[in-house]
Order: sequence, then C-alpha cells, then structure tokens
Amino acid sequence: MSGATPLERLDRLSEELGIDLWLKRDDLTGLGFGGNKTRQLEFYFGDALAQGADTVLITGAVQSNFVRSAAAAAARLGMKAVLQLEERVPNMGPEYYKSGNVLLAKILGAEHMSYPVGEDEAGADAALHARADELKEQGRKPYVIHLGLNHPPLGALGYVAAGQELCKQMQDFDTAVVPSGSGATHGGLLTGIALSTVPAQVFGVCVRRDTENQRTRMTVVLQKLADMLSIDPGLLLEKIEVWDGALAPGYGQIGPKTQSALEKMAQTEGIFLDPVYSAKTFAGLLDIVREGQIKPGQKVVMIHTGGLPALFGYQNELTHN
Ligand SMILES: *Cc1c(COP(=O)(O)O)cnc(C)c1O
Repeated sequence: MSGATPLERLDRLSEELGIDLWLKRDDLTGLGFGGNKTRQLEFYFGDALAQGADTVLITGAVQSNFVRSAAAAAARLGMKAVLQLEERVPNMGPEYYKSGNVLLAKILGAEHMSYPVGEDEAGADAALHARADELKEQGRKPYVIHLGLNHPPLGALGYVAAGQELCKQMQDFDTAVVPSGSGATHGGLLTGIALSTVPAQVFGVCVRRDTENQRTRMTVVLQKLADMLSIDPGLLLEKIEVWDGALAPGYGQIGPKTQSALEKMAQTEGIFLDPVYSAKTFAGLLDIVREGQIKPGQKVVMIHTGGLPALFGYQNELTHN
C-alpha cells in the first residue's frame, strides 16, 4: 500500500436513500487488481520475509481473491506461491473454474492444489502443511498463511490501519458498513475506529455465516486482535454488530437481493461491486437503511473491498436471471 485509498461521495444513491453515503475505495489498493487482501497481506508477507521464507502457501475458495492477491504479492517479492482451492460453492459452471481469479492466478504462475471440502478449516490447513513439509525437504523455506481461528489474525492489523486512515479522512461519520467473512476486515476496521476519536458504529454484513455464528467468530477475532495490540478487548466486544439478512442462499451464491444491489450500484453510480462480498454488503446496507437502523440523514461509509475479477467467474449466474 502506498498512500490512502480514495473516499468518494455517492451523490445519486445518497439522494435516493435519504442518507449521506460515501464509498471507501479499497477496490483500488493496487497490486494485481487490488481489494482488501492487499492490506492484509502486507502483514503476512512482512512476517514471512522476517522469517526468511521463499515460498508462501495459502488456501481459499476457487474464486478466492485472497489467493490471487497472495500470488501477486509473491511475484512482486520474488517468492513462490502455492494456492489451494477449496470446493466451497456448489453447482457452479465451467467459468467458475477457469475465469476470473483462477485465470489471474494461473497468469501469475502460482502452483495450484485443490481440496475437496469447503467447510473444513482444520483439514485444509493440514493439507497445506503437508505440502509445506514436502517443500522443506526440497530445501525451500515455506510460510503458511493461516486463516483458521487458532492463529493470530495478522491480516486484521491491515484493517486497524485502514480504520485509522478512514478516521483521518473523515471525522464525522455515523456508521461504517463492511463485509464480515473471516472477520479480519470487520474486526480490524472496528478496532481502528474504536482507537480513534470518531464515535461511529460498524455494521458487519455476513457473507459466509449466520448472525449467531459470525458474532461468536468476531468475539474470538477481536480477543486475539486485542492481545496483539495489548488493549482491553471489552472496548471492542461491545461494538460487535453483525447482520445476515443478505446471506441467503449462502456463501458465494447470488440471491435476488445481491444481484439487484450489484446492478443498482452499477446503474446508479457506474461502480462495479463483486458478487460474493461487496454486493452482499450493499444489499445489507440497503436493508439496514430500510429497517431504520441507519437513520435518515446519517453519514455512512461503505467499504468497497474489491473482488471484481470474480464477476467473470460468475458470468452465468449473473446473466441467467
Ligand atoms: C476476503 C474478502 C472479504 C472478506 O474479508 P474478511 O477479512 O475475510 O472478512 C470481503 N470482500 C472481498 C472482496 C474479499 O475478497
């Protein structure tokens, strides 16, 4: 990351929704199509370099932005990347396996592995470690990027910094709205804002788990983050707000709300959202406004976390309705 990402007012949507709506353009973080993972990977690659690693291993969904961004960062630093793709989304067509992030990661020259299950964090991690051990035997120095909850969420530190960056750009917003997946982005942003003087609330829109499961996950993420920063977790835990009204039909699947939110942003502001995260987040924002949890006239910042290459992996799903 070099410099702050832009913060743009969405004039036409503001008028339509009766709020003061801004978009933090973290889709423009740079590095191989950008997105929120650029900020997270700065901390993982910093750690990898400090440990003398020459190879980075990471696991994610087939259309994962994290693995594509990791492959780009590895290329930039002259390292090798091993990407493990998990079957997290059922019933997808051939583009899902070939286009979008899959295509980009191939161009980046990364090694690919696949894992047949999508909801087995421990198993997926174990498979990566087995590959890391093989690489070690070949004399390489592997570094595994862990996304499971039993490891410190290093990437969340990138979003603590992003929260502080946002509060420098704008001191008087009422609400931030952000996708909540692994929780690194949501947890980091919430923490960065909590450590500032801006008294804003942070809504995490669920993209993978329902409200109850995501709240539990966020509790763990925030406790670990508070440990890393040596601050009182109580300060953070009371600020958890998660909302799952746009999650259906599930992770990486496009329901009618998500599709119409994606089209609304494009057709009203000329800005693309991705089908897995940012369109769901905008669908959530629209519902939260409709339900009155965001009040008329409030100043609201949505974080655009990027993910745009996935649009091409989802071309069938986005056009068949
Ligand atoms: C990974 C990802 C998210 C979710 O971020 P977490 O830190 O895992 O919660 C949101 N948006 C995009 C585009 C992503 O790639």
